[in-house]
Amino acid sequence: MDSRIIRLTNFNSIQVYFFDFMKIPKFQISLFAWTLILCLFVCDVNALPRKIYKVLIIDGQNNHRNMAEGSVMMKKFLEDTGMFTAEIATSPKKGENMENFKPEFSNYDVVLSNYNGDSWSEDTKVAFEKYVKNGGGLVVVHAADNAFPKWLAYNKMIGIGGWEGRNEKSGPYLYFDKEKGKMVKDTIKGLGGSHGHQHEFVVTIREANHPIMKGLPTEWLHQKDELYDRLRGPAENVTVLATAYSSVEQKGSGRIEPMLMTLQYGKGRIFHTTLGHENYSQKCVGFITTLQRGTEWVATGKVTQPIPKDFPTKTKGRARP
Ligand SMILES: [Zn+2]
Repeated sequence: MDSRIIRLTNFNSIQVYFFDFMKIPKFQISLFAWTLILCLFVCDVNALPRKIYKVLIIDGQNNHRNMAEGSVMMKKFLEDTGMFTAEIATSPKKGENMENFKPEFSNYDVVLSNYNGDSWSEDTKVAFEKYVKNGGGLVVVHAADNAFPKWLAYNKMIGIGGWEGRNEKSGPYLYFDKEKGKMVKDTIKGLGGSHGHQHEFVVTIREANHPIMKGLPTEWLHQKDELYDRLRGPAENVTVLATAYSSVEQKGSGRIEPMLMTLQYGKGRIFHTTLGHENYSQKCVGFITTLQRGTEWVATGKVTQPIPKDFPTKTKGRARP
C-alpha cells in the first residue's frame, strides 16, 4: 500500500499530510475523498450529528411529595439517552394565581406532564390543545392522569384518569377481559380511580409489535408502586400496550388494568404511563426504559433505542441507583 495513503489516515500527522498531499495524483485524492464519505455514512453513522428533541417537563403542583425529585430524575433519564434535552417548567403553588403560567409549548417536541393541580388559565389550555392537535408530543406520568377532571380535551388526550370526582359521567372503565382476550370498556356506574397497597407486580405486554414495546420481555417484574385501577374516561383512540393484574389480596380491583397506553389527539401522539408513584418506583429499569422509548415515540413515531441489558425479567426486578 502507498505509504502516503497510510499517512493520510494519521490525524496526528497533519503537517506530513499536507506536505504529502501536494504530491498525490488527482485520482488518488478523489479515491481518498470517496473513502472518507463512504466511511462517514457506512462505517460510523453514530458519529454524525443527531437531532436532539426538546422536552418540557411540567410540575409545580402534585399530590406526591417527590414531585420535584421525580422531575429531576425524569430529566436525567431522558437526557441519558443522548436524544433529548429537557427543561422543567414549575407552575405557581396550589391556590396561587395561574394567569401568568404560560409555557411556550410550541417551542418543544414533547411535553411531559408531572402535574396534578389547579386548573390552568383558558389561554394556556387553548395553547396546549393547539400544540397537541398540531402534532406536539405528550407524555403523561402517574398522577398527571388525576388532573383536570372537567377539561374534556385533556381527558381525551389521557384516555382514562382517576379521582377528582371522576365517575360514569367521565366515560367507561377500560380493562383486559381474560375470557374475551381483549380490552373492554364498561359503562357501569362507579367512581373512577383507586389503588390498593403498594407492591411489586408483573407488567404484561399486550402489543408486542408496537415500537415502544418491541424487544421487551412479555412479562417483567416492576418495582414497588401503586397499581392504579378503575380509571375511567373517554377512552377514545387508545392502544393499551401493557397491563397488570390488580389483585384483591392487595386491595385492588381484581381486574387486569391498563398500565401503559398510547393515544392520538389530532396529529399529536401521546404516551401515558400510570406507573411511577415514588422515587423507588421510577428507578425501576422497566419504568425508565418505557419512559425513554415512549418519549422517543411521541417525538418521532419510531423507537431506535436498544433494550438495556439490565431490563427486568418476570422474576427478577431491576432498579437503578
Ligand atoms: Zn401515587
